[in-house]
Amino acid sequence: MALEAQTKSIVAQFDYTDEDVNKGVKEFLRQMGEGLEKDGTSMSQIPTYVTAVPNGTEKGLYMAVDLGGTNFRVCSIQLNGDTTFNLTYTKVAIPKELMVAKTAQQLFAFLAKQIELFLRTHHEEHFEAHVRRRLTVSSPDGYMDENVFRLGFTFSFPVQQSGINKGTLIRWTKGFDIPDAIGKDVCALLQIEIDRLHLPVRVAALVNDTVGTLMARSYTSPGKTGAVLGAIFGTGTNGAYIEKLENLKKPLTGEYDKSTGDMVINTEWGSFDNQLNVLPNTSWDIQLDKSSVNPGIQMYEKRVSGMFLGEILRLALLDLLKDPKVSFFKDENSSSNDWKSTTNIAEDSSIYTEWGIDTAIMSVAAADNTPELSVLRQELESTLHIHSPAHDDAEAFKAIAGAVARRAARLAAVAIAAVVLQTGQLSASNDEPVDIGVDGSLVEHYPYFREMIYEALRIIDGVGEEGAKRIRIGVAKDGSGVGAALIALVAAGME
Ligand code: ADP
Repeated sequence: MALEAQTKSIVAQFDYTDEDVNKGVKEFLRQMGEGLEKDGTSMSQIPTYVTAVPNGTEKGLYMAVDLGGTNFRVCSIQLNGDTTFNLTYTKVAIPKELMVAKTAQQLFAFLAKQIELFLRTHHEEHFEAHVRRRLTVSSPDGYMDENVFRLGFTFSFPVQQSGINKGTLIRWTKGFDIPDAIGKDVCALLQIEIDRLHLPVRVAALVNDTVGTLMARSYTSPGKTGAVLGAIFGTGTNGAYIEKLENLKKPLTGEYDKSTGDMVINTEWGSFDNQLNVLPNTSWDIQLDKSSVNPGIQMYEKRVSGMFLGEILRLALLDLLKDPKVSFFKDENSSSNDWKSTTNIAEDSSIYTEWGIDTAIMSVAAADNTPELSVLRQELESTLHIHSPAHDDAEAFKAIAGAVARRAARLAAVAIAAVVLQTGQLSASNDEPVDIGVDGSLVEHYPYFREMIYEALRIIDGVGEEGAKRIRIGVAKDGSGVGAALIALVAAGME
């Protein structure tokens, strides 16, 4: 009984009520507005210099590369002009020593080399044709302009963008550390190395993965207006949306096409409400923040994205395990005083290690609707080394994991609703769908994540039942490939 009562009390702490959701949306709108006015605000609202989304009729062969973390992806994308595309890609691990290379040149030379290898493997003919042409054509770099691949460069590190293919690195994250690159234009760094190898490739666009998602969704699922928002719910969370130029009060330094009256804004919403005006803040959120590498920063992301949900769950479970009054994963035969030895969890279990629970297990818990919870219990045994977990214990685990995920989905609805309201699309007097592209393992694989988002959308002032019906949330696959290609296409049109 004690376990049931304690579980209920923990679950209740993750409640994020309808009233909270509505307060959240109001504050989100306020902070979005602030970010459009000036720099240095909680949400950066970074102008991307992309001024239009595709409509599915775009055609051509483009290249895209993605430097995001452990891997470097190189791909070519044939846009067929009928909302479909063909993608060819390779992926290579970044050698650890290059992540901390002495000079940026060493890393970017490696990247250029991978582009060359890709072209030689997958576009040999094309490549050779270029090489032959080099001998006969007297343009400065030896290539006919129409034969030069336009490349979209997805670079998932913080950059100060100053044009569609210009942006200086603010800082490295995710284990990279090459001080020499800070403050430099990453597109130029890549172009220099590409030119050194005489490749027929021009870095046409610097791409944030959320913008790629927005573009990919607009291309593959075109409506009258295209998608209004691209959002990632994976390791981290972020969103990019279409804003009216007149609302963008911050000065823009680079060139862009003013004719559409719009610009795609990268919200960097992971840092929404770092001040904690409206975000929920349990004791486990506080603990997680303290032990993170960036306390006080990315406070919204720390409650919403895959990297953090498993850890919130782990911290809540530890409190339950430590409670002497509660029987939770207990070894009935133990009479030890040390709380760890009274459990039926192996000493080497990752439940005892910071960041030791992968959010993926929360999906397993949510998906297991068997009366015995047999799938989840097996998973607890194999991944967390819990010996013969009892049904009631697995049920408590499932309830707490479900509460953490439900709060995350309702917080995701706050961001989505605020952006939709900001665009004014729902007040348009038609019943056109308002399209949103999403990507990331959490939204793709957590069962009912989208349903929980919709449940929250329905109670949001200004959205309601009718509005929620019009909002269409769909997965945008390969955003960093096809999306980057589409931005390269837009950029090529501006050359
Ligand atoms: P990234 O965002 O780095 O491009 P993903 O979209 O695959 O990559 O997201 C990875 C994150 O998603 C990790 O934090 C991981 O814990 C979480 N994750 C992976 N699989 C699942 C799953 N089945 N259910 C929920 N979360 C998952």
